[in-house]
Amino acid sequence: GQLAADVLAGMRDIPDFPEEGVVFKDFTPVLLDVQLRDRIVADTVERRRGQVDVVAGIEARGFILGAMIAHELGVGFVPVRKGGKLPAAVHSQSYTLEYGTATLEIHQDAVSHHERVLVVDDVLATGGTLAATCELIERCGASVAAIELVLEIEALAGRDKLRGYDLHCLTAA
Ligand code: IMP
Repeated sequence: GQLAADVLAGMRDIPDFPEEGVVFKDFTPVLLDVQLRDRIVADTVERRRGQVDVVAGIEARGFILGAMIAHELGVGFVPVRKGGKLPAAVHSQSYTLEYGTATLEIHQDAVSHHERVLVVDDVLATGGTLAATCELIERCGASVAAIELVLEIEALAGRDKLRGYDLHCLTAA
């Protein structure tokens, strides 16, 4: 559709970031485009209204869109952060990267039992980040109602790690 085409046109490719040979999909131009940004938020809110009790955003770019979506849905916002950043008691989930491992954390009391959580991030690459986030939410006793992303890098097949979840990407590259 038109929104998908406009989002794709609004993203830019940054070669050799964060390391040589990687092409980074940068969505910061989308944030600067007020109309496009508002259309993204409105599209997501229309799809998910009434289905979620809280929004979880993944550090750092998921905080930006996630907070806007939570505001429009009129629900709370929960940050899922890199290891060591959250001050209260956390659940921790480590996962494998291409080289080494990463850790994500959530406050244990951030979501309640049986709450329906909408997970928001910018880009789906290998899916490891989202799989760890869903695991954290489930360890809190809550459920993942849906996952909303701006862009999916199809060649990395991240969807395969997220089978069974209601996953929506605005556009794909
Ligand atoms: P994954 O765990 O490999 O799916 O990587 C997804 C996570 O890394 C998300 O939090 C993204 O924000 C970030 N990420 C990976 N590749 C890119 C990219 O090309 N552009 C922006 N973010 C990316």
